[in-house]
Amino acid sequence: MATKRDYYEILGVDKNVSSEDLKKAYRKMAIKYHPDKNPDDPTAEEKFKEAAEAYDVLNDPQKRARYDQFGHAGMGGAAGGYGAGGPTMEDIFSQFGDVFGDDSPFGSFFRGANGGGGRQRVRRGSDLRIKLKLNLQEVANGVEKKIKVKRHVTCNTCGGNGSKNGTAVQTCSTCQGTGQTRKVVNTMLGQMVSTSTCPTCNGEGKIVTDRCDACFGEGRVLQEDVIPIKIPAGVAEGIQLSVGGKGNVPPRGGVAGDLLIVIEEEEDADLKRDGNNVVFDLYVSFIDAAIGTSVEVPTIDGKARITLDPGTQSGKILRLKGKGIKELNGYGRGDELVHVNVWTPKTLSSEERSILEKLRNSPNFQPKPNKNEKGFFDKMKDFFHG
Ligand SMILES: [Zn+2]
Ligand SMILES: [Zn+2]
Repeated sequence: MATKRDYYEILGVDKNVSSEDLKKAYRKMAIKYHPDKNPDDPTAEEKFKEAAEAYDVLNDPQKRARYDQFGHAGMGGAAGGYGAGGPTMEDIFSQFGDVFGDDSPFGSFFRGANGGGGRQRVRRGSDLRIKLKLNLQEVANGVEKKIKVKRHVTCNTCGGNGSKNGTAVQTCSTCQGTGQTRKVVNTMLGQMVSTSTCPTCNGEGKIVTDRCDACFGEGRVLQEDVIPIKIPAGVAEGIQLSVGGKGNVPPRGGVAGDLLIVIEEEEDADLKRDGNNVVFDLYVSFIDAAIGTSVEVPTIDGKARITLDPGTQSGKILRLKGKGIKELNGYGRGDELVHVNVWTPKTLSSEERSILEKLRNSPNFQPKPNKNEKGFFDKMKDFFHG
C-alpha cells in the first residue's frame, strides 16, 4: 500500500479543528469526490474513500487521540475496522450518512445512492466529560483508577422504551416507524427525495401510549456508576482519554455516548516536569561542593543517593538515567536532572566570619574558570538540544 496521507491534510483542516468544522470539511470533500458526480475520474472514488476514512478516525475522540499520538502506525490497520482496502462504499453510506443531515437534499442523495433510504438511524446519547487529577508518580508510571460518575442508563423496568411494562408502545402511523417523512424536490443535481424528521414522533418512530412509572417515560434513569479506567504512563495536562459507551444513553433507546476524561497534573513539591524529564534543584553548602559528598535526592519512586565530586561547581547538572517519566507510546523513559546550586551563607557568626576571612586570600579560593567550564547557556544547550 502506498504511503498514507495525513488525515488532517486529506480533509484540509488543522489539528485543533472542532467536530462541527470537521464535519463541514468532510461534507465538502465527499460532495466534491462523490463517484456519481465524477464518472470520468477514476481517482475520485479513492479520494472519496480516503476522506471517509480520515473523517471516521478524526471524528472519534478515542481514535483521534491515538492517531495524534502515534500517527498511522497507531491505527494498527484497524482504522474503523475496515479491511486492507479501506472502507467500502456501503460502509461510507451507512456510517456517515448522518453527516449530511436529515433535511438536506444531499442527505437523501447519499442515502439514495446506497439504495437504502428511510432507514432509522441509531440514536447516540451525550458524552460525559470529567476532570481527573493525577500526581507525578501516577503520570510517570500510569495508574488504574475507579471513577464514580452519574450517568443516564437504560431503565430496567421498561427496557428503555419508556412505556408501561415495556409494552404500551405503538409504531408511529405518520412515518410508519421510520422517523422520517419524505417528499420529492428539484435540485441542481436533479430530482431527489427529500426527507425530514417526522413531526408526530420527533423522529423516534414510536409513540408511547402509557408511560413507565420508573422513568416517567424517559426510558432511562440517572444512576451512579463506578467505572474502572487504566491511565497509560506519560499522559500530560489536557490530554483527553475516552471510554466508549460509558456516557449517557439517549431517551427511549439508542447507544450510550462516551465518557471523556480530561487529565490534570498535580504539581509535585520537589520535582518539576520538563517533557519526559523531571528536574530537581539541589542545594549544597560550598564546603560540600569543595570537599565532595554524597547526598540523597528525591525521585519519582522514592530516593536515590548521588555523589558530588570534590570541586563541584554551582550550576552543574547530574543526570539520573531512566528516573523520569515513561513515554506515552511505551518506548523509553525520561531522566531526572539534578541541578546543583551551591548555597552561599546569608548570615555569619563572628567566629565563622573570622575563619572565612583567613581563607579569603588563599590561592585555591580565587575563581579560575577554564575553557572546559561551561557557562549556563552551553549547559542548557547540551542538555536540551545535544
Ligand atoms: Zn422505564
Ligand atoms: Zn413518526
